[in-house]
Amino acid sequence: MNNTHTNKSFDKINLDWKLIQSELKLKLGIEVYESWIKKIDLYEEFNNYILLTVPTRFIRDWITSRYLDQILQTIRKHKKQIIRIEFKILEKKDNKSGKFNEFNQTNKTEKVSFIKDSHLQYSRIDPNKRFENFLTGSSNKIAFEASLKVSENISYYNPLYIYGGVGLGKTHLLNSIGYEMSKNKKVMFISAERFMYQFVKSIKSNDMVKFKEYFRNTDVLLIDDIQFMNGKEAMQEEFFHTFNALLDKESQIIVSADRPPNKLSRIQERIKSRFSGGLVVDIQKPEYDLRRKIIDHKINELTSLYSDKVNVTDEIQDFISNKITTNVRELVGAINRIVSFSRIYNKLPSLSETKIILKDLLNLTENNVTIDSIQTIVCKFFKISKNEMLSSRRSRYLVRPRQTAIYLTKILTTKSLPEIGREFSNRDHTTIIHSVKTIEKLKEKNPDMNDNINKLKNIILYNKEG
Ligand code: ADP
Ligand code: MG
Repeated sequence: MNNTHTNKSFDKINLDWKLIQSELKLKLGIEVYESWIKKIDLYEEFNNYILLTVPTRFIRDWITSRYLDQILQTIRKHKKQIIRIEFKILEKKDNKSGKFNEFNQTNKTEKVSFIKDSHLQYSRIDPNKRFENFLTGSSNKIAFEASLKVSENISYYNPLYIYGGVGLGKTHLLNSIGYEMSKNKKVMFISAERFMYQFVKSIKSNDMVKFKEYFRNTDVLLIDDIQFMNGKEAMQEEFFHTFNALLDKESQIIVSADRPPNKLSRIQERIKSRFSGGLVVDIQKPEYDLRRKIIDHKINELTSLYSDKVNVTDEIQDFISNKITTNVRELVGAINRIVSFSRIYNKLPSLSETKIILKDLLNLTENNVTIDSIQTIVCKFFKISKNEMLSSRRSRYLVRPRQTAIYLTKILTTKSLPEIGREFSNRDHTTIIHSVKTIEKLKEKNPDMNDNINKLKNIILYNKEG
């Protein structure tokens, strides 16, 4: 159809890119459209993939990590054969807007004031990460509330220092604060790595005055992942002074890190003590209830984008919330994969498919769940011996525990049916399927059974009784 910019491949273009873009606008919202989708052009269309162009690598990475799946789905509505998207970076000649002019070595000679551009560089606030979609539970409530207060009431806690393991929501919280406060304040959101990079760059280009002015001119300074700050004395010196200058003029400072201030290596004592002087809060690993909440919310969020809602079964939700326990990012990633799978294949993955899709995420906890430990725990629970469990006797008091152990092996390990059969005295894989199905049915009908299974799961996964 009509496509203005690629005469060379004119004959190959059948997709109406403008139409696809407007569908994406509806799907993803105007903000996402304006910031990202609008910047994509269709370059060339092949049999089963298409080549899109974006003006910078940054935009490409951003789009790839967040919207690729939705873009592909939308394209596939028009052309089912497309299974893949590729990007080409096509810099626009006119740099008038200069907005996404990245820190790019090739730009060195241009007379681009980094002050002007850098505001956009630093304030890469993701409008999708706000307080409203940050779910809370006992593990993150304190950090959440402190962040909310800071965003409502300048200099209440100053600095605010948020720490916690990877993927637990620190950047999300910083981003939420930045998003809120940028409505009426000058906000700068930067990672410690970028801060260092910019510092070094400014020294080289004799721009230190601007650098200082720029950082000292902000109302709100958010620094992400401060543990990566490992620069030379001169840089820490500068950081310390910036920090003090900002506190003096009552600008709000928010810092995140993967550890508490006193555990930061390579950072000057006086900076650490400045950090400790404000409010220090931590985010813990998400507890079971929060994991369920996040899964539930994420499924709704993802499926609300499409007319056909994906009904991820309780069993799969249960499985994910029991298996992915240490990291919200992986939890969200797991849901993304399940939902993508359902949309691509037009069906929900089975439990064993789920295990395959999530294999790399599951391996973390997989190792300590062995068939042997499951058998031992189930035997103890039902007060039978392991010989009895593995025997061929079919007395009722042995059959249920045996089936329970088989079922638990199926859902808690990535073992295949034949492998499980082998570990249960060479039973046939059809016996294994039968056991799994029997327990699934009983679990639904019989609350006691369900209760027992949950207790056993807890013991197996967390060594926790009751
Ligand atoms: P960190 O910076 O601590 O490594 P992020 O803030 O990048 O972690 O969070 C990882 C992912 O998990 C992000 O997609 C984020 O939106 C999501 N996330 C983390 N915590 C929550 C939460 N409490 N509610 C909703 N999403 C969350
Ligand atoms: Mg982060």
